[in-house]
Amino acid sequence: MSTDLSGLATSGGHDIDWPDLPARQQPTWSDPAALDRTLSTLSTFPPLVFAGECDQLSQRMAAVAAGQAFTLQGGDCAETLADVTGPNIRDRIKTILQMAVVLTYGAGMPIVKVGRMAGQFAKPRSSDTETRDGVTLPAYRGDMVNGFEFTPEARRPDPERLLRCYHASSATLNLVRGFTSGGFADLRSVHAWDKGFLTGPAQARYEQMAGHIDRAVRFLEASGVADAEEMRRVEFYSAHEALVLDYERPMVRRDHRTGLLYDTSSHLVWVGERTRDLDGAHIDFVSRIQNPVAVKLGPGADRDTVLALMDRIDPERSPGRLTFITRMGAGRIRDVLPPLLTSLGEDAHRVAWVCDPMHGNTFTSPSGFKTRRFEDVVDEVRGFFEAHGEAGTHPGGIHVELTGNDVTECVGGTTPVDLDDLGLRYETLCDPRLNHQQSLELAFVVAEMLER
Ligand code: PEP
Ligand code: MN
Repeated sequence: MSTDLSGLATSGGHDIDWPDLPARQQPTWSDPAALDRTLSTLSTFPPLVFAGECDQLSQRMAAVAAGQAFTLQGGDCAETLADVTGPNIRDRIKTILQMAVVLTYGAGMPIVKVGRMAGQFAKPRSSDTETRDGVTLPAYRGDMVNGFEFTPEARRPDPERLLRCYHASSATLNLVRGFTSGGFADLRSVHAWDKGFLTGPAQARYEQMAGHIDRAVRFLEASGVADAEEMRRVEFYSAHEALVLDYERPMVRRDHRTGLLYDTSSHLVWVGERTRDLDGAHIDFVSRIQNPVAVKLGPGADRDTVLALMDRIDPERSPGRLTFITRMGAGRIRDVLPPLLTSLGEDAHRVAWVCDPMHGNTFTSPSGFKTRRFEDVVDEVRGFFEAHGEAGTHPGGIHVELTGNDVTECVGGTTPVDLDDLGLRYETLCDPRLNHQQSLELAFVVAEMLER
C-alpha cells in the first residue's frame, strides 16, 4: 500500500491509504465482511471531538512542557459497556474535579484535566489466548473487541462492538460536556462534589479546603473581580490508548480549515508500552495525526529509542505535541529516569513528562487478585519528582487508573484496604484502580510535592 496521504478523500479515515506496517495486539476479527461494513459506517459517523479542541489541548500541553501547568489524567483501566451509566460517569468526573481542585490549590498553577474515558475500551494482553480447566479461548481484549465471559460466543472478536463503543463514547462525552459546562463544575459548588462519597480522612481534609476556596471565591465576587462564566466551566479533555487501529483509523477526519488529519475519537491518544515499535503501525499512525499524542515508556526505554520516537512523532520539537508517560515502577524510577532525562539534553525540555505510577507496580495478592499498593503509587510519583528535580526538567503530571466508586482493588491508604479486603468489591475486569478515597489522598500528597 502507498504511504502517500496527499490528495485523499475528506470523508473518513477508512478511505485513507494507510501503510501496511506490522501492528501488534490487533484482534483477529471473525467476519471480514462485517468488519468492512463496520469500518465504512464508522468513517461516516460524526466526529466525537473537534480539531479546534485538540489544538487547544496541544496548547495546554505546551504549557505543561514549559513547566507552567500540570496535567491530571485519570479513569478506568478499561471502560466496559455495562459501566457506561450516569452515576458512574458522574462520580468519576467528581473524583477528577476534586483532585484537580486539590492540585490547583496546592500547586497554584493550571491543572489540565484529562479523562481516561470515552474510548478506553480495548486492552493489550500478554497472551492471545486464555486457558481455564483445559479449555483455551481468545483472551479478553476489552469490550471494543470481545466479551469478558469465558464462552466461545463471548470471546469471539465481533466488529459490531466497534460501533457500540463509538456510541458509548459519544454518550459518555455528551454527559461529560454537560457536567463540565452546564454548571455542575461551578467552582462555587466545590462542596457539592463531595456529596454521596463515604467519609474518611481525605474527605475531611477536602471539606476544610473547600471551605477556604468558598471564602476566596466570595471575596473575589465581592471585590467584583470574579468572572462568573470562568468559574462556571472547566475544560475537560478525553484520552485513550490508540490500540485497535480498526477503530482509530476510520475515526480520522481531514480538518477543513487546514487539510490536516485528526483522530476524532479523542482529544489525546497515546501508544502503549507494548505497541510503541518504531517501525510499527501505531507509531506511524500517531505521527500522521495532529492531535496531541503520548507514548508510554517502561524501564527499558533508552535514549536512542526515545530520541527516535521524538524524531518520528515530533521532528519539529513543538512543545505540546508529544508527551512521554513514564511507568518505571517505584523500585526502578530513581535509577532509570534521571540518567534517561539527562542523556536527552535540551530535547528533554521540548516534551511533556507525565508519571503513570500504576503499571510498574502491579502484583498478585496471595488470594489471587491483581493489585497495587497505594504506598508504591505515591513512592513512584515521589521518585518522578526527584528525577525531574535532578535533571532540571518539569514533572508535568500524573496518569492514574481510578474510579469514583468505593472499590477494593488497590491496597493501602489512610482508609486502608488490606490484602484480605480485596475480594469485597473487586470490580475491575482489567487492572486495579484507586478508589475515590485513595484518589483524593493521592491528590493531597502530589499537591504537597508541587508546593515545594
Ligand atoms: C494501560 O495504560 O492500561 C496500559 C496497558 O499501560 P502500559 O501500556 O503502560 O502497559
Ligand atoms: Mn491498565
